[in-house]
Amino acid sequence: GSDQLIDELNRLLIETQYDGEVQVVKTGCFGFCGQGPIVKIHPDEVFYVQVQPGDAKEIIEEHIMKGRRVERLLYHEPMEKRKVKEHKDMAFYKKQYRIALRNCGLINPEDIQEYIAFGGYEALGRALTEMEPADVISLVKRSGLRGRGGGGFSTGLKWELTRQAAGSPKYIICNADEGDPGAFMDRSILEGDPHSVLEAMAIGGYAIGANKGYIYIRAEYPLAIHRLQIAIQQAKELGLLGKNIFGIGFDFDIELKYGAGAFVCGEETALIHSIEGKRGEPTKKPPFPAESGYRGKPTCVNNVETFANIPPIILKGADWFASIGTEKSKGTKVFALAGKVNNVGLVEVPMGITLREIIYDIGGGIKDNKKFKAVQTGGPSGGVITEENLDTPIDYESLKAIGSMMGSGGMIVMDEDDCMVNIAKFYLEFTQDESCGKCTPCRVGTKRMYEILEKITEGKGEAEDMEHLEQLSYMIKDSALCGLGQTAPNPVLSTMKYFRHEYISHIRDHY
Ligand code: SF4
Repeated sequence: GSDQLIDELNRLLIETQYDGEVQVVKTGCFGFCGQGPIVKIHPDEVFYVQVQPGDAKEIIEEHIMKGRRVERLLYHEPMEKRKVKEHKDMAFYKKQYRIALRNCGLINPEDIQEYIAFGGYEALGRALTEMEPADVISLVKRSGLRGRGGGGFSTGLKWELTRQAAGSPKYIICNADEGDPGAFMDRSILEGDPHSVLEAMAIGGYAIGANKGYIYIRAEYPLAIHRLQIAIQQAKELGLLGKNIFGIGFDFDIELKYGAGAFVCGEETALIHSIEGKRGEPTKKPPFPAESGYRGKPTCVNNVETFANIPPIILKGADWFASIGTEKSKGTKVFALAGKVNNVGLVEVPMGITLREIIYDIGGGIKDNKKFKAVQTGGPSGGVITEENLDTPIDYESLKAIGSMMGSGGMIVMDEDDCMVNIAKFYLEFTQDESCGKCTPCRVGTKRMYEILEKITEGKGEAEDMEHLEQLSYMIKDSALCGLGQTAPNPVLSTMKYFRHEYISHIRDHY
């Protein structure tokens, strides 16, 4: 309903002949998805939630014309039982630290001037005019930024390896093929702040020695594509993309390439094949794309969120970024918080925050006062985390140590009513469906696992099924060709570890 709301606000401003200076700006996502449509009034910082087109009249007549807040549209804080008017007072935002999402909900993503007004393209200017490519790489390395797509590899090191690799031309690719069920971080960044990614790609291109960048984006993201197209056009018109940027003789161009929704194309070798017009199937690594990627040339693939962190790192420095987070995981991470929590939405938190803080302080606790059961991080490649590990500080290593993974940032909360065997079956249904079929362990193995899970959930399971599930899981993990297959059994293994009794009770009920 946001579009109708904007139309109504604009119509009423004309109709009431308000002579003050008011502008209705359509922004990207505020992150508080469960409370949308949201209207934020600047500079008052008043935050209205669940606003309908029919509320526009009261906002104009009361707030804009008379300076009185519309109490009924303020957010009601469930934990504190009070209404909060300002963004900064809301529990949902208090513990967040927005770097990648800094402009989402703040600027009009279709107007490059707004991005520039908030410091946009200054990092590119500085990198190009004040720094050598090696300095840029060294700064990104020192910042400690690691790949936010799930791999967690050092971004600066990836840039360095691509720069040092023999061969030319070189390419830089943005992986915007976000496919995890429940994940929408990249989509939100591209819809809310597309220039942050374009600027970072140009900086990356300069650092690694590439003059051409590709954004591989799923065709199911039409709004993100539309905004990227506008952003690329506007950046070209201002000479921020194209020939001789900032007059230093550096050329850089970006082209969009559309994916057709295959989850496996998020894997970088499959993604590169897809851009080349081939079947989106992974190949064995090495060689890594840094040595031999797009058209056999050195190629650097980074994810959307990783790129969105680059301009602030250039502007504020490596030490600033490295001061946020934990010893080995620096900065912040964006999570798509979904499932049985009161506050569903997109959150950006410093590494090192605990899952308990995310679920209870930011997420407002479990819906309908139910009991927390588990949270799945890392999407179909990750695992479940139970109550006993809720106080683990989040970073790449600690999540792995408790049997899950950071992944790209999907976070789905489950309550006492959820059946964990069904949850494992849901994820496995997804991965076996998305298996590209190139290697036997994944193509056949995940299908057999799914069949066993179906049997168990239908009450037809037998005692040895548990053993078979485990055997197949380890076999697939050991022998599948790419990450999709290697991690597909994770949800089954982790639910079997923490909720074995649920599997057994399904089987026992049968006898
Ligand atoms: Fe394809 Fe699965 Fe093998 Fe990956 S593991 S190459 S997705 S069949």
